[in-house]
Amino acid sequence: MTDLSSLTITSARAALDAGELTSLALTEALLARIEQTEPSVKAFLTVTAELAIAQARAADATRGAATHSPLHGIPLAIKDVIATEGVRTTCSSRILENFAPPYNATVMERLNAAGAVMLGKLNCDEFAMGSSTESSAYQTTGNPWDLARVPGGSSGGSAAAVAAGQALGTLGTDTGGSIRQPAALCGISGLKPTYGRVSRYGLIAYGSSLDQIGPMAWTVADVALMLQVLAGHDPRDGTSANLPVPDYSAALTGDLRGLRVGVPSEYFVEGMEPGVEQATRTAIEVLRDLGAEIVPVSLPYTKYALPTYYIIAPAEASANLARFDGVRYGPREPGESMWDQIELTRGHRFGAEVRRRIMLGTYALSAGYYDAYYKRAQQVRTLIKRDFEQAFTQVDIIAAPTSPSVAFPIGQKTDDPLAMYLSDVCTLPINLAGVPGLVVPCGFSENLPVGLQLIGRPFDEATLLRAGDAYQRSTDWHTRRPALG
Ligand code: GLN
Repeated sequence: MTDLSSLTITSARAALDAGELTSLALTEALLARIEQTEPSVKAFLTVTAELAIAQARAADATRGAATHSPLHGIPLAIKDVIATEGVRTTCSSRILENFAPPYNATVMERLNAAGAVMLGKLNCDEFAMGSSTESSAYQTTGNPWDLARVPGGSSGGSAAAVAAGQALGTLGTDTGGSIRQPAALCGISGLKPTYGRVSRYGLIAYGSSLDQIGPMAWTVADVALMLQVLAGHDPRDGTSANLPVPDYSAALTGDLRGLRVGVPSEYFVEGMEPGVEQATRTAIEVLRDLGAEIVPVSLPYTKYALPTYYIIAPAEASANLARFDGVRYGPREPGESMWDQIELTRGHRFGAEVRRRIMLGTYALSAGYYDAYYKRAQQVRTLIKRDFEQAFTQVDIIAAPTSPSVAFPIGQKTDDPLAMYLSDVCTLPINLAGVPGLVVPCGFSENLPVGLQLIGRPFDEATLLRAGDAYQRSTDWHTRRPALG
């Protein structure tokens, strides 16, 4: 068997089912790969080697049972904002240092029931606030294509772990682009499902009206297998949609004839790197060659998405993060009174970016400013959503760039929050509208990966996956691997 760490979920599944591979051998190979590459990649905050071996053994013991999930025995890793029972879950923050949740997120219960193996917890921006993973309180993850560059963020550890061959698939979360932008920057595939498609129960909230958990892996076929396990109604999440979940793998027909693909001029923003624009436009031509009809569309409110998002997301974050007071979760700083303790704990243990968001959000929600900022932003959000509704009367999906640039050097934007926020201009509107977005690798610019973003109608992940998979059947970008140690 070839190098196990370069397998996809689909190829590992075939080898497991054929009896050519055991989950234990695969898991041990990935743990060895993690040990070998972590000193330079730094994608993991916690490696759960013992648990992984035990889960792999259990999977091998139950293999061959009449029916089992496609993820049975498959080693995965999880962004550290998702609650894992008894396993440290830090949100990359000092305020949750050594916090071990007493329960599992619904997605973890689903993965466990499917027989998946958990290799560990992945680094991200603190509380998922950022676009480079540099706001983690613990470490800076390197991009496996160039370790001096960021992997994107906030799910940078999730993207880097796949790209470095440390895990066959990972979970990320996406509030404004945090699955799609790092997938693009690390040359892998990633899906932000429709808001409500995947349960948020046990996801430590950032912006509750925007957050979604989603799969990241080399191929769209793998993303489809993972979504099948993750998606579905959860009564413990009041915003979870009670809708049937289609058979996503069956939707991958390879046929794009007649599919209407909209291309919004507003997404080819000023300042976009020419290599990114070129790779994106070439990818759209591939869709045309496959039989899709390319239609220009307009999403005129796109230019308001960034300011709208940076009111709504911090407002929700300021409310969500109020619970971290050193009393209910995590460590507590000593102080004379209860109020001193809370102030010291929050002041010392939240990082600069998180404190900035809390202040922005508290300001936007405060009496006298609420109407001018928060209420206004919610109104503009409705207009942005209508842009998409209007476009989807003309087209079935929308194709656009994911990020205006390729992976940037570590440290380049850390002192310039606005420049960092601009990395998400092409991904934020999708969260504001609540629609699904898929990223597939579509080429390289200056030897760094570029990702094509496909945007779909609400709850129509199947069409997005069909388009992304058809693209991958006729291109080989998703088979490229970084030359890492
Ligand atoms: N970079 C954006 C932010 O900092 C999006 C982050 C995310 O999607 N979690 O808010």
